Amino acid sequence: MEAHLSIRAPVTALHGVGPAVNKKLQQLSITTVEELLWHLPFRYEDYRTLTAISDVQIGQNVTVAGTIEIIASRRSWKRRMTVTEALVRDTTGTLKAVWFNQPYLATTLKANDRVMLAGKASDRYGGLQLASPAYEKMDRGETLHVGRLVPIYPTTGGLTERQLRYCVSQALRCVDEVEESLPEGVLAQERLMSLSDTIRTIHFPKDEHDRDRALERLKFDELLLFHLRRMLDERGTRLLRAPKIPFDQATIRSFVRSIPFELTQGQRKAAWDILQDLERDTPMNRLLEGDVGSGKTVVAAIAGMNVVQAGWNVVLMAPTEILARQHFLTLTELFGATSTPVVLWTGAFHELHHGGKKYPLAKRALKTQLPKHGACVIGTQALLEDRASLDRLGLIIVDEQHRFGVAQRQSLQQGGRTTPHFLSLTATPIPRSLAIALAGDLRLSILSTLPKGRKPIVTRFLPPHQREALYRRVDTQLAAGRQAFVIAPLIEASDRLGVASATALVEELAAYFPKRRLGLLHGKLTSKAKDATLAAFVNHEFDLLVATPVVEVGIDVPNATIMVIEAAERFGLAQLHQLRGRVGRGRHQSYCFLLPTTVTRLAKKRLDAVTATSDGFRLAQLDLELRGPGDLVGTAQSGFLDFRFASLGDHALLERSRVVAATILEKDPNLKQHSLLRKNIAKTAIHKE
Ligand code: ADP
Ligand code: MG
Repeated sequence: MEAHLSIRAPVTALHGVGPAVNKKLQQLSITTVEELLWHLPFRYEDYRTLTAISDVQIGQNVTVAGTIEIIASRRSWKRRMTVTEALVRDTTGTLKAVWFNQPYLATTLKANDRVMLAGKASDRYGGLQLASPAYEKMDRGETLHVGRLVPIYPTTGGLTERQLRYCVSQALRCVDEVEESLPEGVLAQERLMSLSDTIRTIHFPKDEHDRDRALERLKFDELLLFHLRRMLDERGTRLLRAPKIPFDQATIRSFVRSIPFELTQGQRKAAWDILQDLERDTPMNRLLEGDVGSGKTVVAAIAGMNVVQAGWNVVLMAPTEILARQHFLTLTELFGATSTPVVLWTGAFHELHHGGKKYPLAKRALKTQLPKHGACVIGTQALLEDRASLDRLGLIIVDEQHRFGVAQRQSLQQGGRTTPHFLSLTATPIPRSLAIALAGDLRLSILSTLPKGRKPIVTRFLPPHQREALYRRVDTQLAAGRQAFVIAPLIEASDRLGVASATALVEELAAYFPKRRLGLLHGKLTSKAKDATLAAFVNHEFDLLVATPVVEVGIDVPNATIMVIEAAERFGLAQLHQLRGRVGRGRHQSYCFLLPTTVTRLAKKRLDAVTATSDGFRLAQLDLELRGPGDLVGTAQSGFLDFRFASLGDHALLERSRVVAATILEKDPNLKQHSLLRKNIAKTAIHKE
């Protein structure tokens, strides 16, 4: 065993980390002991309650403790594998345990060893037994793998939870070297756990309370950094000057009259507020918040037109190329033959629309090709890299970014000259009080009603045997000229399985719907292909679009009335709500069908919540309440706010950390005495961009 393990040591200093394990750890971006300490579990398995062997019942998940009577491995001819069997006895009886293809177990575990086993009891191979249970010898004081809340880590193929746990348990021996980032006074006043205790605890908590205390500290740090960064940024922006952009009432009136629908009261008010802000010489920082389908785009268009008409450029950033392309189509339509030019500028598309005509642009400097008197330039985040070429930038609009604009604003300050106004659009339901706590100078416009004539979307949760009935129903809609989405999950961007399942689904559906035209959209397509598919769907060249959640945000196809979500239990509530928001955008009655594959009780509750309410705000709340007790950090289930640990429900913590941030900056405006905080702020900046 290593005597002087240090957090700065490479992970190879740990027992059991040879070249192979080292390589796996590298895949998880872990090279040092310290990085390993920061590899946090995302949930826990509760193996605390011991069951007496005589009480074990088939189908139960149990943890038992006992002594090994015999253990032996043999080759199974039929199944071509090694089977290791052990008989374990406690004071109440004996139980068999079986492992497959782990022949070394018969040498690691020996007769008379005291062990704990955890797993599911079955009678599959004759007699009551545990198949492939987690196991651990009880020769050391504390167990790692059983008999406690057992941490489950994100991992990669070939690296087991057991190995990770063993590595972390060694790394924890030097956890006290981790430098405390908070001043002692703050720790005491806020009654927070020290950082080293926090790390120790989050890996191996004694109980839920212990874990929650550690989690509280992690959330606090996250929120504190958020506030500090924001406050520093705001201090910088206070002195900034923005271009004053006159509210051109005549132009805007006639534009609004040309829009094919009547604006809602909320849209009018939001547009008015924005146009007022633009007239000031301080940069606007406004969040336009409205549930999916509430009509944020047209408000952005009004603001954009006013700015372009005044001779300034506008940038509209969408989260994906698909969406950028769609915004381009929407705006070219809205602006029609007016004198407001619109430019699409993404990796794959370079196009100008002006006075009712389209012109291709060359893929060189945007600046040289922009109309002289300003344009509305639509693209993705990548536009930021090109901003040098965007002179006279008057307004930046960011769509569907679960963020609050701090980062973007910072990177958009144009040395010495004026700073553009800033508008972000979001469907994230942020209460006003929270928005204020999140950002001091942020102003909020809320679209609280949907456009008139929308029928509520009917949401149903269907058991698998109703699939055929569902397909018949879908077909009736398609026959009536409507369109449908079928969504298959994509677990991560890199996950081939997800893409394959969408691909498989399209084939399966082709058999069901021989007369219908089917399209397929997923993240691995090229931008051109994605765009072509989506454009074809918008133009009703497809009846049914099978897609991975790339369509999640913002796509607008008013003729689509059916949303079918496969493996719905895999999606977070926010995501389901977003997906559902892709239908119900026109005048036809729309439907959303959730088709889960496996339904745990919790999954059922979550899906029931989605069927019961179409109110995004209510759902966000339910999402919190329904968080599984085992869920911890960075789970895909959350997603209403862009924090890793903190969530929408952490009002009190948000406020506490805000006060602390303000106090720290008051005493030490440049964080001279808080070098670690300063460093961490810089780190989050890089991480976020
Ligand atoms: P989101 O707020 O989700 O971005 P969009 O801006 O995409 O919503 O608008 C959703 C749909 O509603 C679009 O088809 C849009 O044309 C339409 N829409 C927007 N405002 C109104 C309105 N006042 N009346 C009728 N339809 C509207
Ligand atoms: Mg939108």
